[in-house]
Amino acid sequence: MHRLNLRQLILLLSVSTALLVLVNTFYTSHKTQQALLIEQTLEANQAYASKMADSIENFLAAAQQQLGFAAQDVLLAENDTKQLARITERLKQQTNSFNSVVVVNAQGKVIAASPAEAGLLGKTAQAQGAVQALHERKPLISKPYISITRRLVVFISHPVVDAQGVYLGFIGGSIYLHETSILSALLGQHYHASDAYIYVVDEDGRLIYHQEPSRIGEVVLGNPVIEKVIQNHKGSQQLINSKGVAMLAGFAPVPSANWGVVTQRSLPATLSGMDQQMLAVAKYSFPFFILIVIAVWVVSRWISKPLWQLARSAENLETPAAKEQINQVAVWYFEASQLKRAILRGLAGVNKKMGQLNLENITDPLTGLLNRRGMQAKLDEWEAQGQPFSVIVGDIDHFKRVNDEFGHDVGDKVLQFFSQHMRESSRPDDLVCRVGGEEFVMLLPNADAVAAHKVAERLRLQVSDDICSSIGRPITLSLGVASWPCGNASIAQVMVNADRALYAAKEAGRNQTRNSTVRCE
Ligand code: GH3
Ligand code: MG
Ligand code: MG
Repeated sequence: MHRLNLRQLILLLSVSTALLVLVNTFYTSHKTQQALLIEQTLEANQAYASKMADSIENFLAAAQQQLGFAAQDVLLAENDTKQLARITERLKQQTNSFNSVVVVNAQGKVIAASPAEAGLLGKTAQAQGAVQALHERKPLISKPYISITRRLVVFISHPVVDAQGVYLGFIGGSIYLHETSILSALLGQHYHASDAYIYVVDEDGRLIYHQEPSRIGEVVLGNPVIEKVIQNHKGSQQLINSKGVAMLAGFAPVPSANWGVVTQRSLPATLSGMDQQMLAVAKYSFPFFILIVIAVWVVSRWISKPLWQLARSAENLETPAAKEQINQVAVWYFEASQLKRAILRGLAGVNKKMGQLNLENITDPLTGLLNRRGMQAKLDEWEAQGQPFSVIVGDIDHFKRVNDEFGHDVGDKVLQFFSQHMRESSRPDDLVCRVGGEEFVMLLPNADAVAAHKVAERLRLQVSDDICSSIGRPITLSLGVASWPCGNASIAQVMVNADRALYAAKEAGRNQTRNSTVRCE
């Protein structure tokens, strides 16, 4: 399985942390901004509804006042038809408050009307607003109703009462809800925000004003905001409108008419700008994020490099260069430096132990000389290096007799005695080996056959001259000498040549040295 390396892990950790933080920041800021925006919109809607309610309230008061003044004029006109016509005309034209104006006497007969073409003059007023005014004899604002001219209207009226307090009739103005009127002028012009609108309801929840004229006159049921505003409450709230769209609504009552004003803006439209904004934020933070990733990539290399190098050199601990390699790793922080020290210490320990094991492995325990394996390792090395050398192969004469005569243990002592002689007659660069029971080899680097022969003879004479204390007499040995390189012969071949020379020495009567007779060409 592929394992992630430290650098990738650091990168993964950093980048995922950065991403998490980023996402979290985005999410929370989005949430708080959204809440803030909703709150602000609700507040703004409520403020706007209040303002509009005030405007309507002011308009109604002004309209009542105008009707009050006109009522005085009606009194002064004393049933002069022309005068009355002028009063209604002026009220309609000058003030712009009403779509039509009428004067009705106490008997319910229309005695003046503007516009005249409605054909009301001289007829008995039967409209709901007129009947109510005649009945109640006080300033009134009617509920919306369908007029004689088949319009949905609101009728505002003021009684005409003389100085003696006798009721003479009333003067009233209609506002046509479906047509251009003071109400539509007041409400329609002001509210421009997209996906936002304003509407006005009467105390029964009937729409008096709405941006869609077709809905005017409709009674809206089950709308929590309308229910609140017709109970004279003001405030703001979130709701789902009749089309299933979430809305942020503000509302305020118009107390004198028992009307309610509602302004609302759709929630999706309110929040749509915010998504753009968040997108822009994301766009701006992206390069920064990439910079972070690059920075982390660089720093992670810096952190992981020593560990990576230590890990790589740990793979090659058995090579001689390992120690040098590890020494060169620059460690700049605590863990890496500890690790480096630990590896170096461990490596030193292992090397020491391996050296010991190796030595044991290549040493003959009885004599302390190199064994056959140790000799072979050296020969391989020399062969690789092309190191010239001569070899002396020696074998004790009639050693079996020593064993037979004195026992095996004494035989061992004789072997040790003999190896001491070999050691003494060798130079520091020479290698002395015990390669069989009582067969020995001496390797003499850079010595030719003549020099080697001399060494062999010296050894042979020394031994044959020295009484071995274990057996009370000297031993003798036969020796064979050969040299490498020798033509194309391998070292193994040369070793065989030396053995042959040894056999020749044995055959010739023992206690003598023979050089290999193989010609080297
Ligand atoms: P030659 O002159 O022909 O070499 O006669 P030799 O008796 O030495 O004959 P050979 O070399 O064949 O005999 C080797 C003897 O050395 C056989 C064995 O008893 C004895 N030997 C081999 N290894 C050891 C050892 O480790 N310790 C002892 N004490 N004797 C050994
Ligand atoms: Mg032998
Ligand atoms: Mg022998």
